[in-house]
Formats: sequence, structure tokens, C-alpha cells
Amino acid sequence: MEKLYKKCVSYLKTLCQEIPERCVGSEGNRQATRFFEKEVAALGWHTEMPGFDVMDWEDGGATLHAEGASFAVLVSPYALGCEVQETLLSAASVEALEQQDINGKILLLHGDIAKEQLMPKNFVFFNPEEHQTIIALLEEKQPAAIITATGRNASLAGGVYPFPLIEDGDFDIPSVYMTEEEGAKLLSYVGKPVTLNSRSRRIPGKAYNVIATRGKDATQRVVITAHIDAKKGTPGAIDNATGVVVLLLLAKLLKDYDGDTLLEIVAFNGEDYYAVSGQMDYIQSNQGRFDEILLNINIDGAGYKEGQSAFSFFGLPEEIREKANAVLAKFEGIAEGAPWPQGDHSIFVQYGRPAIAVTSQWFIEHMESQEITHTPKDNVGIVDCHKVVEIAQALSDFIHQWLH
Ligand SMILES: [Zn+2]
Repeated sequence: MEKLYKKCVSYLKTLCQEIPERCVGSEGNRQATRFFEKEVAALGWHTEMPGFDVMDWEDGGATLHAEGASFAVLVSPYALGCEVQETLLSAASVEALEQQDINGKILLLHGDIAKEQLMPKNFVFFNPEEHQTIIALLEEKQPAAIITATGRNASLAGGVYPFPLIEDGDFDIPSVYMTEEEGAKLLSYVGKPVTLNSRSRRIPGKAYNVIATRGKDATQRVVITAHIDAKKGTPGAIDNATGVVVLLLLAKLLKDYDGDTLLEIVAFNGEDYYAVSGQMDYIQSNQGRFDEILLNINIDGAGYKEGQSAFSFFGLPEEIREKANAVLAKFEGIAEGAPWPQGDHSIFVQYGRPAIAVTSQWFIEHMESQEITHTPKDNVGIVDCHKVVEIAQALSDFIHQWLH
């Protein structure tokens, strides 16, 4: 127990402090996947690191001026940069967007149309029709640049305010974002020329999933997952270094497992990346093989210092459900949680596979109001390593008792 605790502290330090950042495409991200692979391989697991093309992004800042007034703007992640002086137009609804000739102009999106982050245009898992309509209209009308003024929306943007309305490396109209308050001030310049300079740069690179396996029968698998990437600008301690640490501790606790069912540990690379490239790569290479998966266990957002750990169940067959309940009864820091939709377990659920999602109860309860996720506040100081260790022990117990 004491040993696992020390391991947890040291793994967290490596992932959140020694490695500078883990956003997809960065050198830190590649360092993190190499580190993970080395650790699990040393414990005797068979490992693979399938790679894929991704994009890193450099934020050089942006400025916006109108008749001597200046406004605070931030570069939309993965946007193209621009240097443009043009007339400002605005739209608060899809209708207003449809009715105007915005070609070559600078467009301010505010109010209703800017209430929630637009899904990346190639995001296949969930993409509301209204988002697709807005993106299609913008691409058809081709403004020279887009300014978005966004409010608070913790449930969709984590704790980030203002949040970028557009975060999409496949969308090629330059864009920046600002607070609602700045947006309200800027509205009085509609019809007048404004000057926008955005120094944003896309950098092509590589990223990798890490897949570790153990066991005999590859036609029956239990897949245990946690995403290893983090948003740019956050150490990503709870989101999701703690999930990765649970995987590493499990690799150790299960190192003598020699059951028939194959155990597959996956460090997914892309949950917090617009193109979810690691997940897409995994889905592609598992086409026609999802039926082999008996269960997915996904850890994301676990180990927060306040409240209990939550295990949420998705379509568990009776036999698995009983074993899971026995574990919940035994570990007092863990309780059953409400099902939550986002996260990598939803991939398996969409393919009709049963899943257990592990997170912190506090985050389920404060999904609408918390201001931690995807910000610098998500650092090792808010992690309770006892909880991380308890989750690893509970999952190890569960797997040993179920599959022996
Ligand atoms: Zn996450």
C-alpha cells in the first residue's frame, strides 16, 4: 500500500511536472507515451505504439483595434493566423448569418449563436445539426476572419472562460475569441473598419496510443482505458494524469495475471484533442472486433481530493454487475455514480459493449459550475493519491475475482 502510494506520487510528478505538457502533437505528449510504454513493458506486458499524424499549435497572441480602441482577444486553438483590416459585421443567430453578405468581412458571433462550443467539423461521435449548419454557412460565405464572444458554460467547456467557440484544426477561417463583456463593447463598432492581427501557427507532428496486453485468448478481451493527453495550458492532473497512474498501478498489480481472457490496457491519445485521433485510430483497427470486448473500464477525472470515487455502470451483464457490487461494498471510498456521457467509455457503449466509467463524484455533481477542468488549476495539488491507489486496488480485485 505504502509502496503504491509512493509510486503514485512519483508517476504524477513525472506526468504533470517533469513533462512540460501533454497536449497532442507536442514533444511532451510523445515523452509521456514513451514513459508509459517503458513502465508497462518493464512489468512484462506486451506493448505496441501505433502512431498517427496530428497537429500541434503555437499561440502567438492576437490584437484587435477599432478607431483607437483596443479589445482583449485570444487566438482560437488550432486556428490559422491573419492580418486583416475590414468592416465589422455581427450575427447572433443562424438567420442573421444567413441574411448577410459577410464575404471578406470580419464577423463577430455573439449571443445565442455563441452559447456552446461548436463541435469540430469532422467529429463523428456527436455533432448537432445546428453546429453543422453554422460551420457550413461560415465556410460557404467565407468571412476574412471570425471573432466570437462567449459566456460561461462549464458543462461544455470545462472551467474555461471565455471559451473558444471554435477549436478545430480542420476549419480554415482564422478566428479569435473574447468575453461577453468585450463582445458587448465591440458591437458599437459594427459597420466600421476594425484591424485584427492573429499570430497563430499550426505545426504538423506525430502522436501515439500505447496498447499493452497480457493473457492467452485474444478473442475475449477486457479493455482498460485512460486518456494520456491533456489540454494545452493545463498540467492535466485530474484530467487525466490520475487515470494514467491507475493504469500504471494496475499494470503492476496484474503483472502475474495468467488467465485466458486477454487484458488490454490502452493509454488513449486524443480525448482532449479536436480530432480525437487516438480514439479514431483505435476504432479503425478494431473494426469488426468490438464483439470480442467483454467489458471496458475507463478512468477519467479520478482522484479529486474532495468526495468519493464514483464507478458508473453502462449495460453490465448480471454476472459482472454482481462482482462490481461486491467491490463497491468492500472499498469505502468508492460508490456507484450516475452515468455520465462524455469520455472514452462512450465509444464502447456506442458499439454496444458494457462499460464501467471511473471518476470523482465531486465532478459529476459540479459538472455545470466547476472551474477546474482544462485550466492551470488542474494540478497535482488537488489530487488525493490514496484515492488513486484505492481505485487501482479495487479494479485489480475486481479483475482477479472475475477472471482469476
Ligand atoms: Zn478527460
